[in-house]
Amino acid sequence: MVFGWAQIVMDIQPLIVIITGEGHLHGFSHTYVGATLLAIVSALTGKYLSEIGLIIFGLSQKDNLIKIAWWVVFFSAFIGTFSHVLLDSIMHSDVMPFYPLTQQNNFWRLLSVEQIHKLCMYSGFIGAGIYYYMQFKMRNK
Ligand SMILES: [Zn+2]
Repeated sequence: MVFGWAQIVMDIQPLIVIITGEGHLHGFSHTYVGATLLAIVSALTGKYLSEIGLIIFGLSQKDNLIKIAWWVVFFSAFIGTFSHVLLDSIMHSDVMPFYPLTQQNNFWRLLSVEQIHKLCMYSGFIGAGIYYYMQFKMRNK
Protein backbone atom coordinates (compact mmCIF):
# COMPACT_ATOMS: atom_id res chain seq x y z
CA MET A 1 0.00 0.00 0.00
CA VAL A 2 2.86 2.41 0.76
CA PHE A 3 4.44 1.52 -2.61
CA GLY A 4 1.12 2.35 -4.33
CA TRP A 5 0.73 5.55 -2.31
CA ALA A 6 4.23 6.61 -3.39
CA GLN A 7 3.15 6.29 -7.07
CA ILE A 8 0.24 8.68 -6.44
CA VAL A 9 2.44 11.16 -4.53
CA MET A 10 5.02 11.07 -7.37
CA ASP A 11 2.47 12.00 -10.04
CA ILE A 12 0.75 14.88 -8.18
CA GLN A 13 3.15 17.39 -9.78
CA PRO A 14 2.57 16.15 -13.39
CA LEU A 15 -1.19 16.13 -12.68
CA ILE A 16 -1.06 19.80 -11.59
CA VAL A 17 0.95 20.65 -14.74
CA ILE A 18 -1.63 18.86 -16.94
CA ILE A 19 -4.55 20.64 -15.23
CA THR A 20 -3.01 24.15 -15.18
CA GLY A 21 -1.00 23.85 -18.40
CA GLU A 22 1.97 25.46 -16.65
CA GLY A 23 5.35 24.12 -15.54
CA HIS A 24 7.60 21.21 -16.48
CA LEU A 25 5.53 18.01 -16.88
CA HIS A 26 8.03 15.64 -15.22
CA GLY A 27 9.83 18.27 -13.20
CA PHE A 28 11.64 18.10 -9.88
CA SER A 29 9.43 15.27 -8.60
CA HIS A 30 10.88 12.98 -11.28
CA THR A 31 14.52 13.47 -10.24
CA TYR A 32 16.29 11.23 -7.71
CA VAL A 33 16.61 14.22 -5.36
CA GLY A 34 12.86 14.87 -5.65
CA ALA A 35 12.13 11.15 -5.34
CA THR A 36 14.14 11.03 -2.10
CA LEU A 37 12.06 13.86 -0.60
CA LEU A 38 8.80 12.35 -1.87
CA ALA A 39 9.78 8.92 -0.49
CA ILE A 40 10.10 10.49 2.96
CA VAL A 41 6.72 12.26 2.55
CA SER A 42 5.14 9.01 1.26
CA ALA A 43 6.56 7.01 4.16
CA LEU A 44 5.51 9.44 6.88
CA THR A 45 1.93 9.75 5.53
CA GLY A 46 1.63 6.26 3.99
CA LYS A 47 2.27 4.40 7.25
CA TYR A 48 -0.81 5.85 8.93
CA LEU A 49 -2.98 5.84 5.77
CA SER A 50 -2.13 2.16 5.23
CA GLU A 51 -2.84 1.23 8.85
CA ILE A 52 -6.24 2.99 8.57
CA GLY A 53 -6.80 1.18 5.24
CA LEU A 54 -6.14 -2.18 6.93
CA ILE A 55 -8.85 -1.35 9.51
CA ILE A 56 -11.32 -0.27 6.78
CA PHE A 57 -10.69 -3.50 4.82
CA GLY A 58 -11.22 -5.54 8.01
CA LEU A 59 -7.67 -6.92 8.01
CA SER A 60 -6.76 -5.15 11.26
CA GLN A 61 -9.07 -5.33 14.28
CA LYS A 62 -9.30 -3.10 17.37
CA ASP A 63 -8.03 -5.85 19.68
CA ASN A 64 -5.21 -6.79 17.30
CA LEU A 65 -4.13 -3.68 15.37
CA ILE A 66 -1.54 -4.25 12.66
CA LYS A 67 1.33 -1.78 12.90
CA ILE A 68 3.54 -1.53 9.82
CA ALA A 69 7.23 -1.40 10.79
CA TRP A 70 9.02 1.84 9.91
CA TRP A 71 11.76 0.01 7.98
CA VAL A 72 9.07 -1.65 5.80
CA VAL A 73 7.36 1.71 5.23
CA PHE A 74 10.58 3.48 4.20
CA PHE A 75 11.83 0.53 2.10
CA SER A 76 8.50 0.41 0.23
CA ALA A 77 8.39 4.18 -0.29
CA PHE A 78 11.97 4.35 -1.63
CA ILE A 79 11.47 1.38 -3.97
CA GLY A 80 8.27 3.08 -5.15
CA THR A 81 9.71 6.51 -5.90
CA PHE A 82 13.11 5.38 -7.26
CA SER A 83 11.63 2.75 -9.60
CA HIS A 84 9.08 5.38 -10.71
CA VAL A 85 11.87 7.78 -11.73
CA LEU A 86 13.79 4.98 -13.47
CA LEU A 87 10.79 3.73 -15.47
CA ASP A 88 9.58 7.25 -16.34
CA SER A 89 13.10 8.27 -17.43
CA ILE A 90 13.09 5.33 -19.88
CA MET A 91 9.61 6.27 -21.12
CA HIS A 92 9.60 10.11 -21.21
CA SER A 93 12.20 12.32 -22.90
CA ASP A 94 11.63 15.30 -20.56
CA VAL A 95 12.62 13.45 -17.35
CA MET A 96 15.99 14.62 -15.95
CA PRO A 97 16.69 11.93 -13.33
CA PHE A 98 20.05 13.28 -12.14
CA TYR A 99 19.11 16.98 -12.04
CA PRO A 100 20.78 19.23 -10.75
CA LEU A 101 24.01 17.32 -11.57
CA THR A 102 23.04 16.98 -15.23
CA GLN A 103 20.00 17.61 -17.43
CA GLN A 104 20.90 14.55 -19.54
CA ASN A 105 18.61 11.53 -19.62
CA ASN A 106 20.66 8.60 -20.90
CA PHE A 107 17.89 6.12 -19.98
CA TRP A 108 15.37 7.45 -22.53
CA ARG A 109 14.36 4.67 -24.96
CA LEU A 110 16.64 2.14 -23.23
CA LEU A 111 13.59 -0.15 -23.52
CA SER A 112 10.52 0.17 -25.71
CA VAL A 113 7.17 1.00 -24.11
CA GLU A 114 6.08 -2.58 -24.81
CA GLN A 115 9.19 -3.95 -23.06
CA ILE A 116 8.53 -1.69 -20.04
CA HIS A 117 4.94 -2.96 -19.85
CA LYS A 118 6.16 -6.57 -20.00
CA LEU A 119 8.84 -5.87 -17.36
CA CYS A 120 6.18 -4.43 -15.01
CA MET A 121 3.76 -7.29 -15.69
CA TYR A 122 6.33 -10.05 -15.12
CA SER A 123 7.77 -8.39 -12.00
CA GLY A 124 4.16 -8.11 -10.74
CA PHE A 125 3.69 -11.86 -11.32
CA ILE A 126 6.96 -12.60 -9.49
CA GLY A 127 5.92 -10.31 -6.60
CA ALA A 128 2.49 -11.99 -6.38
CA GLY A 129 4.17 -15.39 -6.43
CA ILE A 130 6.51 -14.43 -3.58
CA TYR A 131 3.57 -12.93 -1.63
CA TYR A 132 1.39 -16.05 -1.90
CA TYR A 133 4.36 -18.36 -1.25
CA MET A 134 5.18 -16.44 1.95
CA GLN A 135 1.51 -16.54 3.03
CA PHE A 136 1.45 -20.29 2.42
CA LYS A 137 4.69 -20.76 4.41
CA MET A 138 3.44 -18.64 7.34
CA ARG A 139 0.11 -20.49 7.53
CA ASN A 140 1.81 -23.88 7.56
CA LYS A 141 4.32 -23.13 10.30
ZN1 LIG B 1 5.40 9.72 -13.12
